[in-house]
Amino acid sequence: MPDSRGATPHEQPRLRIASVTVDLEERRTPGTPSRLMANATRVLDFLDAHELRATIFVVGGVAREHPALLARIAASGHEIGFHSESHEFLRELGPDEVIASGKEWRARLEDLTGSPVLGYRAPSFSLTRAVPWAPAAIADAGFAYSSSVVPARNPVAGFPGAPTTPFRWPEGLPEFPCPVGRLGPVSLPFAGGVYLRVLPMTLIRTFVARQPPAAVPWIYCHPYDFDAAEPFRRMPGTRWWETPILFFNRKRMFERIAMLVEGASPRPLSVWGCDPAFVEALPVFAPSAPRRALPGALGASGVFQSAATPPDDPLREPPRTVPHAPPGDEPELLGGD
Ligand SMILES: [Zn+2]
Repeated sequence: MPDSRGATPHEQPRLRIASVTVDLEERRTPGTPSRLMANATRVLDFLDAHELRATIFVVGGVAREHPALLARIAASGHEIGFHSESHEFLRELGPDEVIASGKEWRARLEDLTGSPVLGYRAPSFSLTRAVPWAPAAIADAGFAYSSSVVPARNPVAGFPGAPTTPFRWPEGLPEFPCPVGRLGPVSLPFAGGVYLRVLPMTLIRTFVARQPPAAVPWIYCHPYDFDAAEPFRRMPGTRWWETPILFFNRKRMFERIAMLVEGASPRPLSVWGCDPAFVEALPVFAPSAPRRALPGALGASGVFQSAATPPDDPLREPPRTVPHAPPGDEPELLGGD
């Protein structure tokens, strides 16, 4: 008898990757030539070969240096989002800069590509409790949705206690949090970057299959995640054990993503983020810090009410109540970016 995801006991659990996202940014060791163009081209070739339309969050400085890359992305039909001008943490920017650079780069990217720029991803998922002004600033800059939160404790930037499925901030901005999977006391953002290269594939598949019905599970990656040919060098600003992880298993990244998206038909995040019915039905998350709340909003220790059904998605189930974990109950592990 099929279970809730349509799988029989003898079948592989039905995978539900909804979207593939790429954070288009440079990570270069000082004194070495850029490898971004070659790596990004390989990623775009991979997406084309698998007929995948992704959401590509672009750092402004990359767009300035590589306008031809932006043209290629747009010609392939990918959605283009914004990933800050120079990959600074939100707390380093402040609200005025987020609004000003967001408005400026939305216009520039739209001029370069001829397509609307609707999505925002904070560098290193740095939308945390420390920047309560951020959702309003992102909305004021004109973005329709955000994908900027790791809803778990994390040494780089996490938001423990945030919902693990899409939600709305009290200001109205929809948020697509990084998918996480629970392993004992920790929640792991398993579907991207270092985690997607390091964790056993069986565990990743299990996490995907266990995503709740209200989830919109997306993969994230960076061009360097695929660069198996990069000479090993100690990365500046990292601890001794971090650099080997940054290089680990890059040669398997294409293969792993291909396995995860097989049969899943991923679509750009704006398919959900710009669907009024989907957004309207999202639960509102009001963090525990004092802030203006809308009717129906619940505090950080509350329970979320409706969970929306995305458009045209036969894998979705009816809305149900989605509880979320209180903050501060998890040890830290790896960074989220
Ligand atoms: Zn990034």
